[in-house]
Amino acid sequence: MTAKIIDGKAFAARVRRDVAAHVATMKERHAMTPGLAVVLVGDDPASRVYVKNKHASTVEVGMNSFEHRLPAETHEGDLLALIARLNTDPAVHGILVQLPLPDHIDSALVINAIDPAKDVDGFHISNVGLLGTGQKSMVPCTPLGCLMMLRDHHGSLSGLNAVVVGRSNIVGKPMAQLLLGDSCTVTIAHSRSKDLPTICRGADILVAAVGRPEMITGDFVKKGATVIDVGINRIDAGAGKTRLVGDCHFDSCAAQAGAITPVPGGVGPMTIACLLANTLTACARSHGLSEPEGLTA
Ligand code: NDP
Repeated sequence: MTAKIIDGKAFAARVRRDVAAHVATMKERHAMTPGLAVVLVGDDPASRVYVKNKHASTVEVGMNSFEHRLPAETHEGDLLALIARLNTDPAVHGILVQLPLPDHIDSALVINAIDPAKDVDGFHISNVGLLGTGQKSMVPCTPLGCLMMLRDHHGSLSGLNAVVVGRSNIVGKPMAQLLLGDSCTVTIAHSRSKDLPTICRGADILVAAVGRPEMITGDFVKKGATVIDVGINRIDAGAGKTRLVGDCHFDSCAAQAGAITPVPGGVGPMTIACLLANTLTACARSHGLSEPEGLTA
């Protein structure tokens, strides 16, 4: 069997185009521009790249981008004061604090200081609770991107068996909640799960969010299943070079799967696209406008 490659890069470009069209309409009809504030504390090189990419993407779809770069030694109180200001700033509809924060800052305290309506990462405890109880919430970007690709591929997910490998708060758990919300029968597996290959072979939809390069191999995959590989792992490619691989061993999984996301070019590009979608949604909700269709859970 040759698996269909789910092209996350092309899908994300489509989402960004949709967002840009909605932003243009908002500007024209309501004289309103969605704004995203990104806060970076310290100078972790990977975080700086992410923040730069987020800024460029935000501007590209016509939104306002507000960047706040603070030194690594910033006091927790000063960061909380900035968040309090952003919470009341009417030009800011989404607030994202780039993680990880320096060790002396309590990340949970900071995330929970963000106005839940502006919490475009969906990490605030109120949004976690709303998602868990099937209510309207801000949904974490990476699982939202996975859900969009799955809906696009399958149409209805109702009644399908889904296995999510990984139980982190940012990917595994919200992914499982979203799949449950779409009426899948959901299993969450983790490092203590027994006989992982057998659990995974029961899946019509297999989501790998483990952080272990190429751990999921073809013998974990039921013939015809859809495989969503969230993992991003940089491995040694010899000759002083590195390359990116997912949590799934692509060739052996693709030989079994009906459809699969590649790494790179699968889930990764969807994450920023969904951040933009969430900012648009937050702006629409804050002004009582109808939510952009197809861009929310
Ligand atoms: P975490 O490290 O927070 O969680 C990993 C999960 O995998 C844990 O629940 C852990 O189980 C489980 N796990 C680890 N080893 C095994 C094993 N041998 N068998 C079964 N389960 C195992 O990672 P994240 O959820 O943050 O990220 C997962 C992957 O997704 C990473 O590669 C990360 O880089 C990538 N990622 C990609 C994003 C994107 O934009 N595409 C965004 C976010 C993450 P336990 O809880 O028992 O320890």
